[in-house]
This record gives sequence, structure tokens and C-alpha cells, in this order.
Amino acid sequence: MNAYYDILIVGAGHAGAQAAIALRQQKFEGTIGLLGNEKYPPYERPPLSKEYLAGDKPFERILLRPESFWAERNIDLVTGCRVSKVDPMDKSVTLSSDEQISFDKLIWATGGSPRMLDCPGSQARNIHAVRSRADVDKIIAALPKVENVVVVGGGYIGLEASAVLTKLGKKVTVVESLDRVLSRVAGEPLSRFYEDEHRSHGVGVELNATVEGFETNDDGIATAVKLGDGRTLPADMIIVGIGIIPETGPLVAAGAVAGNGVDVDQHCRTSLDDVYAIGDCAAHSNRYAGGALIRLESVQNANDQAKVAALDIIGEDCSYDSVPWFWSNQFDLKLQTVGISAGFDDAVVRGDPKNRSFSVIYFRDDKVIALDCVNATKDYVQGRKVVVGALALDKEELVNTDIPIKEVGVI
Ligand code: ADP
Repeated sequence: MNAYYDILIVGAGHAGAQAAIALRQQKFEGTIGLLGNEKYPPYERPPLSKEYLAGDKPFERILLRPESFWAERNIDLVTGCRVSKVDPMDKSVTLSSDEQISFDKLIWATGGSPRMLDCPGSQARNIHAVRSRADVDKIIAALPKVENVVVVGGGYIGLEASAVLTKLGKKVTVVESLDRVLSRVAGEPLSRFYEDEHRSHGVGVELNATVEGFETNDDGIATAVKLGDGRTLPADMIIVGIGIIPETGPLVAAGAVAGNGVDVDQHCRTSLDDVYAIGDCAAHSNRYAGGALIRLESVQNANDQAKVAALDIIGEDCSYDSVPWFWSNQFDLKLQTVGISAGFDDAVVRGDPKNRSFSVIYFRDDKVIALDCVNATKDYVQGRKVVVGALALDKEELVNTDIPIKEVGVI
């Protein structure tokens, strides 16, 4: 580790790693430090709740680059360290080990930490997050002795974990506080479809359910989840997937403008000179959300913002304007989404969910703003252009699956 880097990247997840890669791809020749708080080289996070948890992909296959890549590209990867302070005037950071590193430009790519429950018994050792390799390794190690799993949170993380654990033979119950799963990210038809899918695989789905606490034994292990309505669900393992808290503390303390994440402009610059923020922790104005300031927790956003920051640093003109996309695998269902459905005022379903291949298409002011495509890759590919163009497609034609989306008339 040097005492100075031309570019210091804090966070070695998708965004941070991609920023370093993009800088070298752009022939940037200065020094690059890439600091990660985990002890592993950068790896893909989406498989953690899917193939890695299922045991279908070993860790080596989810590395973002082979281990030797970073040194070969002259990127100084420093694992197992945490930045506790940023001094934007002095252009330096302080690590929790008290070491100081100076920079010319700082890229903040710290993502977030899993939000956990705070209720009686919530410190029990068998309550797990699904955010890092270490989290999932703990789950995998404990699984042989586990029969009943309670998954708290019916978002993508919770549902993906539920699907994998069900396939591994565990009895799973999903506890969701709202009246449908996936409510933050999808419309009702998609939520009901996934709810039914999980139920048909034997998953218990408790909606409008709150967790009041956990019954624990003398060893500090949770044995049951206490719900708000007085019922208890037996559990040998609890998985919590209720979102993340962006890791922005040191930047906020340094005076960066921040709300839900650190605010950045279209070049991924924060309000602090020479300090960029990218990935899950960066709140940006997104044209696919009607210009609203949002954070996106996706690989697409991490990669694309990383490229924008890298290009801005080397003086190329570039603004973040990518169409959001995302995927989720559950059971044999491949969901692909494009656009942002939040704020839709109408939605149509193309295809029959009973056939397990359909798309939900979302509109605002009659223009298509997003698609959720389940086992319907053609719709996804063709729908992308429709979202980018904000086209007002004929809804009657759109629900006719004999007409490919690219041939549906614009009204
Ligand atoms: P993730 O990326 O972890 O899946 P999301 O925000 O997409 O995060 O989904 C989290 C889900 O958890 C949401 O459906 C939300 O309603 C639900 N949720 C949040 N807090 C609780 C809670 N305390 N108990 C049960 N469900 C919760």
C-alpha cells in the first residue's frame, strides 16, 4: 500500500473494481489504489443469493477477474481495510488502522451494509444477512443441521434465497411486512405471480407480517420468530433481506451533500472537489425515474457509473444516462427487467402467467417506462428500445403475443 495514489478507490465491489478496470482500459497510467474491506479480491455479488448459495458455482468462478489481474494491471488492490475518515481539503483518507493515504482523485464505491432487525433476540448467531461471501459461507456451513428457515423480507434477495433453500430441501417461510412481495420494485401482477410460485414450491408466505422478536435458547441461538399477531414460526436459521444502508458515513462527515446516499451529478461527482461516488451508495438524478434522485442497487448501475467516473477523470466528456436493467433467477424462472416501474399509472400483462412466460409492461402518461419479463427474453430485448424511446405503444396490440413488441404500433 502506498501513501499516495493518483486515483484512490474506496470499495472493491462491482463499482470500485470496474472503475479501476475502466481507467486502465482508457490507458490511464497513473497510480491506482483499490481498497476493499473484505478479505477477498473483487467478486460478483448477484450469485451470492443464487448459484453460490446453491453450491453450483465455486468462489473462483464468481471472481470479477482472475486473482493475478490486479497486479498485472498495476492496480494496487488492498483487501481487509476500512476508511474511517475523509479529509477533502488535505485530499487524504484515514484507515481504521490510523494509516493515512493521500489522493489526487477519490472514488467512493462503498455500496452498503445490510439493514438488520433491531428487536429482542436479533443478535442471535443464526440470523444472517446475504451481502458478502462471508455471510453466505456462514449460511452454507450451518445448512446441514437446518430444517426450518425463516426469510425476513420479500424482496429479490429474500425470494432468491428462499428459492435456493427450498430446492435444497429446507422448509422456508418468507415474512414480508407489506401486503405483497416485491412491492418496492414491481407491480401487483408480478408480485402475485412470484408469491404463487413460492407457495406452489411449498414456501410459506406471510404478508402484512411484522417480526416482534426471536425466541432464543441458552446458547444464544434463535429457535423461533415471534410475529406481531402473536404467532411463532419455528426456525433453525433466519435470513434477513430487508435492504441496505448506504455506507456514506465518512463522506457525509466530510461535508458531502447526501440524503439517501451521497448525491452525485451526471458525471458522478459529489459536492466535494475531486471526490466521485458510484454504485449502490450514489444518489443520482435518473431520467428513467423522471429525473428523481435515486440510488440503484444493480450491477448495471455500478458498471456504468464506474465508466462515467473514469472517463470524467481522464477528461472525456461523458454523462450517466444508462437505461436501468436487472435480473433475478428463482426456481426455473428468469426475470429480466428494464426501466424503472416506480410511479407507473397503468400496467398491462402480455402473455399468460400460467404459462410461466409473460411480461408486465408499465406506463406513465401512456408511455412505456419499464418491463418485467419472466422467461420472455425476446420481450426484454425488444422492450429495451421502447423504454429508451419512451414510446407510447398501442396497449391492445401489446397484449397480443402474436405481435412482436418491435412491431407494435406507436399511438
Ligand atoms: P433486498 O435488496 O434486500 O431484497 P428490498 O428493499 O428490495 O431489499 O426488499 C426488502 C423487502 O423487505 C421489502 O419487500 C420490504 O417491504 C421488506 N421489509 C422491510 N423491512 C421488513 C421487516 N422488518 N420485516 C419484514 N419485511 C420487511
